[in-house]
Amino acid sequence: MRSTVWEGVGRIGLVEVEEPVPGPDDVVLDVAACGICGSDVHAFAEGAWITPGAPMGHEFSGTVAAVGVGVRDLKVGDRVAVNPMGPCGSCRQCALGRTNLCAAPVHSARGGLSDKVLVPNAESGARLHRMPDSMAFEEGAFLEPLSVATRAVTSAAPELDGPAVVSGLGSIGQCVLRVLLAHGARDVVGIDVSPARLAAASGLGAEVVDARADDPRAYLLDRWGTSTSPYQVGGNVGTFFECSGAPPMITLATEVVRAGGTVSVAGLVGASPPVDLDTVVQKELRLLGSFAYTGPDATEAFRLLADGLVDVTPLVSHRIPLSRVAEAFDRQHAVDGSVKVLVVPDPQES
Ligand SMILES: [Zn+2]
Ligand SMILES: [Zn+2]
Repeated sequence: MRSTVWEGVGRIGLVEVEEPVPGPDDVVLDVAACGICGSDVHAFAEGAWITPGAPMGHEFSGTVAAVGVGVRDLKVGDRVAVNPMGPCGSCRQCALGRTNLCAAPVHSARGGLSDKVLVPNAESGARLHRMPDSMAFEEGAFLEPLSVATRAVTSAAPELDGPAVVSGLGSIGQCVLRVLLAHGARDVVGIDVSPARLAAASGLGAEVVDARADDPRAYLLDRWGTSTSPYQVGGNVGTFFECSGAPPMITLATEVVRAGGTVSVAGLVGASPPVDLDTVVQKELRLLGSFAYTGPDATEAFRLLADGLVDVTPLVSHRIPLSRVAEAFDRQHAVDGSVKVLVVPDPQES
């Protein structure tokens, strides 16, 4: 079978490998859809967080093709969405329920950009979520980014009637926007520079700002007014979700958020942007990082998908067969034209 591996900066290989064989507690899937993640693009373009030969792809869904002898609650033919995280379950972070911060992850499922993939320690409802017939494989491939978004929203716990901003409308920002709306937020503005991404957010009914055409700072201060404290002037945004990784957005966030508000940072920056700490102090801002997700975050994300409470299908900008996987990376890397690139099986030859 074919498997996508990282061969070096800008070099993606599709190599022939042995088909995986499930151990007693494992499941092998025929992959039906696998998204290209922002982290995959950083690996592709910069060599971030990856070593040569590593299999790629962690946002996937598929059909159970083989089960280990110890797997009781899944069978061949089940359609499943995958939580690829494999926390150890026994370190201090795991004991505290912060499995996203596990000190020694084991059993993570990687290699979704392949014909088949092994999911270790597979158990229905934990690693694998059985999809209802109404749920498409493409939607299942969004379980992972939607779980990241669910964690960001859950940990920030925004006031749903208060103004909120999502900066960066790539797949994580789009998912944050969808989770906010599904949870009842009514006053949300999205910021981006890509026409395709702005269109995907406004199609949802969200108000959007094109940061190339408008000054987001002026827009947000005009939209919700300014606030004054004895120490400074600022905006009235309750919660600001930074998903773009663009350094100037952190400065914007601390300025436009009101005193006592929250800045949730879910985008990796790859640099050390200046942070106005006096503002953080004087406004008593909560500056929160949000990384990956826990099992309960993934379960909540799956509920939103399975119950049809979020619509992710409009985010799929490209469907590219596995045989052209290198092209899929180029497409996802081109921010202006893509939202989410999905890699799908090659058409069956008849
Ligand atoms: Zn991802
Ligand atoms: Zn752990």
